[in-house]
Amino acid sequence: MNNSLKVKEIVAKGYINPSKLPGSDYVINPYVGCPHRCMYCYAEFMKRFSNHDEPWGTFTDVKIRSTSNRPIDLAGKNVFLSSVTDCYNPLEEKYALTRKLLEQLKYSGAKITILTKSVLVLRDIDVFKQIPDITVGLSMNTTDDSFRQEIEPCASSALERLYALKTLRENGIHNWLHVAPVFPYLSVWKALLEAAEPFTDRFTFENLKLRAASLPRVLLYITQKYPHLKELYEQIYRQNNNEYWRVIRKEILAFCNERKLSAAVQFAEREPES
Ligand code: SF4
Repeated sequence: MNNSLKVKEIVAKGYINPSKLPGSDYVINPYVGCPHRCMYCYAEFMKRFSNHDEPWGTFTDVKIRSTSNRPIDLAGKNVFLSSVTDCYNPLEEKYALTRKLLEQLKYSGAKITILTKSVLVLRDIDVFKQIPDITVGLSMNTTDDSFRQEIEPCASSALERLYALKTLRENGIHNWLHVAPVFPYLSVWKALLEAAEPFTDRFTFENLKLRAASLPRVLLYITQKYPHLKELYEQIYRQNNNEYWRVIRKEILAFCNERKLSAAVQFAEREPES
């Protein structure tokens, strides 16, 4: 874990919040901030609500307690961990908040979905086995660990995530691979699917979406590291040309169809310039 990370223990108003995310009635975020420091982080907008001046990725608040004991009937509800942090980030090793929350949800009747970039998720297989309806996903976009290290410096390696997928399956935990975010021309998704195919049969795909804070950062990285892709990224992210995504979507679906893999492609397109 990054040694300069500022960690603060806080009392939260509650752990569980209603969600507008597709397929989720509630979300649980045991941490504010995320030490994984992904270059493209989608949760960076949360900084506005965090009372922090420091750059996103340099702090994490740990919700050690909650002031709310209000019971919520979760029977049959979809509960997602986590939407704006990784609930198995390295701090979870010490605080075990996710584990404690899952222990509390065991008899709630909730349908629980976990998505993580961390092999730490394997620590809680014993708890997963006690939850009747749980699905655990690993999120990754490449088998190339040098690329992974540059874009997700503090998350688990590509091999560790594949190992996590394999171990979940061996333990009878329903799993899936979230191939995300697909970086144009850089994510070797075919190699990833071939590597993961023995360990899961469900794949979802999400493309790289760049927002105000991450757009200049990622484009600078591409310019410096992959100058031959600069123009192509400019076309996608500055001129909002969606053709690349349409072609890749077809390729992914054809590839998965041929191998009889369950695939859902959730590619967002950028509004074309008028
Ligand atoms: S794991 Fe998710 S929340 Fe954490 S830094 Fe990466 S993208 Fe952001």
